[in-house]
Amino acid sequence: MILLGWNPDRGDDPFGGYRSTVDEVTGAGFFRCKWLLPPLQATAGTEVWLFSQGSRERGVLGHGRVVAPPDPLPSGRGGAPGIVEFDALRPRGDSIPLDLLTLRVPGIAWGVNRPSLRIPAAAGLALRTLWAETSTPEEADPLLPPPGTLPPGALAQARVNRYERDPSARRVCLAHHGTSCAVCGFSFEEAFGPPGRDFVHVHHLAPATRLVAGYELDPIADLVPLCPNCHSMAHLRLPDPYSPAELRALRSAAGFVPGTTLSPEQLTAQADAVRILGAR
Ligand SMILES: [Zn+2]
Ligand SMILES: [Zn+2]
Repeated sequence: MILLGWNPDRGDDPFGGYRSTVDEVTGAGFFRCKWLLPPLQATAGTEVWLFSQGSRERGVLGHGRVVAPPDPLPSGRGGAPGIVEFDALRPRGDSIPLDLLTLRVPGIAWGVNRPSLRIPAAAGLALRTLWAETSTPEEADPLLPPPGTLPPGALAQARVNRYERDPSARRVCLAHHGTSCAVCGFSFEEAFGPPGRDFVHVHHLAPATRLVAGYELDPIADLVPLCPNCHSMAHLRLPDPYSPAELRALRSAAGFVPGTTLSPEQLTAQADAVRILGAR
């Protein structure tokens, strides 16, 4: 785990506009950019924390990981260029402030400016806890832990969850596969009419555990439409979700026959029976 120093007051802006990058991370789930990294400490997958060391704001502002480590050739003082993928960036002014860092993550000279710093494991754990405490839950999915609050394996899962919500990837997937559930065939448009049009979940087929560094999403090959029920069932198995084919096999083994869904009349009759029998 390494801390990457960034001075927002200086001209060199790796984000090409920090404010718009914050929006991009919120929407797409990640943002990649070049960064001067310490060659010995930055390997593929190394977690990084963005540390703002500007005159007006000093504090931890973001989280990510190394996707392309720098060449192990001799490098200058600032490090060698590699690629970092940020999965959480807070707006400026919303960082974990210096006084809180000093108090809760001791053993690190938070007041000193530097391009990068290795964070020892204990301090890393404390920083992660503090990040979680000061994060606001995701608006789109309050159940999804904010990036940076869980260890790297779980981070990969959070990334997969983000692929499933990425609006442009979703459009490409649905344009190709349609909007009916790939397991049970349920169509929200057929069942609910116009309001159900285009409503369906999108599921990422490859489990998070098999995403290698440098993985690029293919919305047609890697995503399928699933109704929320089948989607929940897919993720019931951990860490590798059930595939659509496995789910279809489970359904037929369980004796599901299409058309056996109870009608509202049958459900009312059942409820009446329970009420009448229960009242006896
Ligand atoms: Zn389904
Ligand atoms: Zn899924």
